[in-house]
Amino acid sequence: MSRRFAYVTLVTNADYAKGALALVRSLQHSGTEADIVVLHTGGATEQDLAPLAELGVLLLPADLLPTSDGFNQRHQRERLHAAAPFTKGNKPAFHTPLDNFAKLRLWEMTQYERCVFIDADAVVVKNIDRLFAYPEFCAAPNVYESVADFHRLNSGVFVALPSAATFAAMLEKLDAPDAFWRRTDQSFLEAYFPHWHGLPVFFNMLQYVWFNLPELWDWKSVCVVHYQYEKPWENDHPKAAQLAPLIALWQAFFSGERIDETLAGLTNPEPV
Ligand code: UDP
Ligand code: MN
Repeated sequence: MSRRFAYVTLVTNADYAKGALALVRSLQHSGTEADIVVLHTGGATEQDLAPLAELGVLLLPADLLPTSDGFNQRHQRERLHAAAPFTKGNKPAFHTPLDNFAKLRLWEMTQYERCVFIDADAVVVKNIDRLFAYPEFCAAPNVYESVADFHRLNSGVFVALPSAATFAAMLEKLDAPDAFWRRTDQSFLEAYFPHWHGLPVFFNMLQYVWFNLPELWDWKSVCVVHYQYEKPWENDHPKAAQLAPLIALWQAFFSGERIDETLAGLTNPEPV
């Protein structure tokens, strides 16, 4: 594949560097020839990024967006959690909502014709290079509980066309007076692309589907597993027992050990 295509992820601290390591190993295992780019802010040290550098990815330094003080205050972790509480799962302490918006820097990467963004807390279990032929803006629905979830997109996987004009227009809309994006980049992208193209859920299978909607899970179709809310590298999080097979899958990619055996041994959850 030519250098016109890239998978892009974002890392702003040591925890998400761990996530990105598993993601990058999974992308390389999928046999893609597209570039793999890790956007990283100053919150991730050279030491945090060293294992990623060893895998030969492109490490691209990025700043957080130049948003106003008012915007930054409104989206500060405690304030956002108070104004728009998370009732269905827990965000780890190392998750800073404001950092999410740096994803939009992907639109500045005009050296690429198309990019597929993937959250650092996801792994690819099958080649998804066909997404590079898809239009802007594609994302899968935010499904993890019920059919009502199909109204909303999840910004953990999306297809985008870098463009300086789009980036400038986005910044303007993003930081409009009093703008509050309750689910950060996700709410923003949904508003910016109201006619988003829906990908099948299998391109961004959210881990809670495993226990909430087990009949939807089908390893034959799942391409990306996304560990939304609690992260697979957190010690003993409250959902860890329920999610054990998915955590074992993530660990295989993280360690680089027994990947093929782990993939071959996957079985669908028992419908409840
Ligand atoms: N992110 C980051 N640092 C943060 C918060 C987010 O690097 O403090 C990046 C990282 O790529 C992460 C993505 O933004 O995967 C979105 O956050 P997260 O995946 O934690 O949100 P969730 O999927 O749980 O809604
Ligand atoms: Mn995520």
